[in-house]
Amino acid sequence: MQTLETDYLIIGAGAVGLAFADTLLAHSDATMLIVDRHGLPGGHWNDAYSFVTLHQPSSFYGVASLPLGQGRTDTQGANAGMQELATGAEVLAHFQQAMQQRLLPSGRVTYRPMSNWRTDGGRHQLVSLLSGETTQVRVRRRVVDATYFGSQVPSTHVPAFAVAPGTRLVPPNALPHLGRTPDDLPRHFVVLGAGKTAMDAITWLLAAGAPPERIGWVRPRESWLIDRRSTQPTMAHFEAVFGAQVALMEALATATTADELFERQEAAGGMLRIDPDARPTMFHYATISPGELAQLRRITQVWRGQRVRALEPGALVFADDQRVPVPEGTLFVDCTATAVTRRPPVPVFQPGRIALQMVRVPQPTFSAALIARLEAGVGASGQDDARRNAMARAIPLPDGLDGYPVATLVGLQNQMQWGQDADLRNWIRDCRLDGFGRLATAVNRDDPADAARIALLARLRAAGPGVMAAAPRWLAGAQRAAGA
Ligand SMILES: Cc1cc2nc3c(=O)[nH]c(=O)nc-3n(C[C@H](O)[C@H](O)[C@H](O)COP(=O)(O)OP(=O)(O)OC[C@H]3O[C@@H](n4cnc5c(N)ncnc54)[C@H](O)[C@@H]3O)c2cc1C
Repeated sequence: MQTLETDYLIIGAGAVGLAFADTLLAHSDATMLIVDRHGLPGGHWNDAYSFVTLHQPSSFYGVASLPLGQGRTDTQGANAGMQELATGAEVLAHFQQAMQQRLLPSGRVTYRPMSNWRTDGGRHQLVSLLSGETTQVRVRRRVVDATYFGSQVPSTHVPAFAVAPGTRLVPPNALPHLGRTPDDLPRHFVVLGAGKTAMDAITWLLAAGAPPERIGWVRPRESWLIDRRSTQPTMAHFEAVFGAQVALMEALATATTADELFERQEAAGGMLRIDPDARPTMFHYATISPGELAQLRRITQVWRGQRVRALEPGALVFADDQRVPVPEGTLFVDCTATAVTRRPPVPVFQPGRIALQMVRVPQPTFSAALIARLEAGVGASGQDDARRNAMARAIPLPDGLDGYPVATLVGLQNQMQWGQDADLRNWIRDCRLDGFGRLATAVNRDDPADAARIALLARLRAAGPGVMAAAPRWLAGAQRAAGA
């Protein structure tokens, strides 16, 4: 059996594993071995539907050492006026470039695609999916788990409902290929799922010419959605970005319920919901534009509050056994995969191990790069894992609303720690994956034209003590909700 030695064994060549490797490469002399079952870098993006895009700007996604996109502002479509969103193909090309132009040419990185990692009695092994050959790996420093998010996408997951023979059920990947056999073209569609993938499938169908009255939507939960205007790292959107931040901080300090927290951000322009009369119960940081929202509101055939138990060629069967007929030949579009699995957070730095998680949300690649920077040693982080963990507390990802204040508070605590470390602060300032720090420092304190912006930043700072005072209340509320 072949044996390889490496400083770091990175399991997963997805967004998170590559963002970590890229920053560790730049700030250490370590060797790395990256293993992945996929045949190409990019993780779940290899399995995505062809019309997928990022939902937040390209400018702060991917690996830190390479740009993603051209820094363009879209001039038409639902994203007009905002920074470009990389397509899935562009994201994959970015990760390929990272592998081919940065990681492998360094001579310090070995890549094993199409291979499964496993342990055997504590020993690390890679098994080639094609040859079946096993390689033993001796790890000198740490194993890096870049699989923690357990991403699931429709084309590779198994739906949790029964599908009767003859039912036309496809993942969104199939939609652009409809029409290859004209006799078979569906005239009615039912999209299943409440998340961003379902929203993408519906906006794609509408843009491709499907009449809204022929599209049904099974939306078991209503979701709060981030208004993409508040995620733009440009001076043109300064008020939208920091206005939303101020609303969040002030609401964290004084609001009494998670509902109020979201409603106050909605009023300030930071949050959206599809139905203004419905109370959302879900928040996954899905990000959309007002233009997309307007499209989604064109769908009026919406089944809410229930999950599908079974599909039949001419019917939906809900969990309570209610059977709803749909036109024969309806095409069901499965968008029910959980993009990111919610798992309890674990310490990022452990003896011999790093578990990559989010330390700023929703920014998985910035988080992975920052963890790599701490691992390579920066400022106060030194070589001490207790200190590193204090600077990189893993954020528990919310599903319902009560998890949001907790996730925000843990993120704020991390941010405060970073702010106190001059070296780390400088690294963040220069890191492409940090979208917003530069925006705050670009304000000219001597320019009267910037007075309103300075006042906004002052409000943000002033809210801090109130937020800290309210933190125990939010944490207790979330614990109560989890126990309920
Ligand atoms: C549609 C969509 C849009 C998104 N848009 C954005 C956005 O705009 N901005 C943003 O910041 N984030 C966005 N995200 C989230 C983010 O990009 C990633 O989805 C998330 O961080 C998960 O990536 P990952 O690298 O952790 O996981 P994955 O991509 O799943 O990578 C993990 C890899 O580990 C491999 N693996 C697992 N177990 C083993 C094993 N035993 N042996 C070998 N290999 C193994 C898998 O094959 C996989 O390739 C989006 C996600 C989705 C689904």
